[in-house]
Amino acid sequence: MKLSLVVPCYNEAGNIDLFAETVAQTFQDTVYEYEIVFINDGSKDKTMAKLRHLAQTSSQNIKIINFSRNFGKEAGIYAGLQKAEGDYVAIIDADLQQDPRYVLKMIQILDNHEEYDSVVAYQETRKESSFLTFFKNTFYRLINKMSDIEFVQGASDFRLLRRTMIDAILELKEYYRFSKGIFSWVGFNNYYMPYEIKARASGQSKWSFWKLFKYAMEGIVSFSTVPLRLATIIGIFVSLLSLIYLIVVIFQKIFFAIEIPGYATIVTLILLIGGIQLLCIGIIGEYLARTYVETKKRPVYIAREIINNKKDNDK
Ligand code: UDP
Ligand code: MG
Repeated sequence: MKLSLVVPCYNEAGNIDLFAETVAQTFQDTVYEYEIVFINDGSKDKTMAKLRHLAQTSSQNIKIINFSRNFGKEAGIYAGLQKAEGDYVAIIDADLQQDPRYVLKMIQILDNHEEYDSVVAYQETRKESSFLTFFKNTFYRLINKMSDIEFVQGASDFRLLRRTMIDAILELKEYYRFSKGIFSWVGFNNYYMPYEIKARASGQSKWSFWKLFKYAMEGIVSFSTVPLRLATIIGIFVSLLSLIYLIVVIFQKIFFAIEIPGYATIVTLILLIGGIQLLCIGIIGEYLARTYVETKKRPVYIAREIINNKKDNDK
């Protein structure tokens, strides 16, 4: 099998048929043998019914991994990569924001350039509010400072990977899967291809600002331990400051007989130190919570069923 398309779907009933059709059209003039691996990520609409119907009627190779509940897009990608059999695997959204025609271009790049292991699509110009762009830019600046690996701004999950790279990614068995980090952590040579994102074919985006914010935090905690050291740094800084202040106070009292203002200073200091301590405990808590979950070694996803329209049973 030349190519697998991994497609995480959450409430995409309106897009499934159109997606399969567009893929069929895109590849009809090529000799590439391909399969589509759909992951139904606990959709609450008719996505699964649509997928079932597609698997029964389509002449394309269709695999469906039906999750027992919503595990998130990252889990979907992991499941898809596990079940994909292609030499090349493309990760692509179901909503047709990412035109499958780009996959053809990606295949050509990998075919013609032995030295690259993946092609990453990135948006040159973002089509979103300036506030969101600012938030995303800040996130990239922060995480690149704090982490040893490189996060490329605008790089999406839309990418084509060689088998060697997929096997490496599957070696990482962590529960919290921040894809962007995992992709760069494994290394390899990435080719960055600009692409233009389209409007959603149907339905709406699942990303609210709050979800994005949590996702950003997860990225930082998963791929950097710098925030943990923050406590030490702030601690040293505050201790030094208070020492200097102590010396100043003693000098004022002994040499200038200045009355030291009483409770205001104390209250301010208690609040300041209390706040810093809470912040640091909170940061430690973030890491501890993740360590706790990771040590349970729970599976990244649970599949209720796996459908493969070309075989009776999945591999
Ligand atoms: N998705 C998923 N599980 C989720 C949320 C999203 O599998 O919990 C899928 C969704 O169906 C789509 C892709 O991930 O195919 C990207 O989601 P979306 O279009 O909402 O994100 P956006 O394009 O707005 O960044
Ligand atoms: Mg989308």
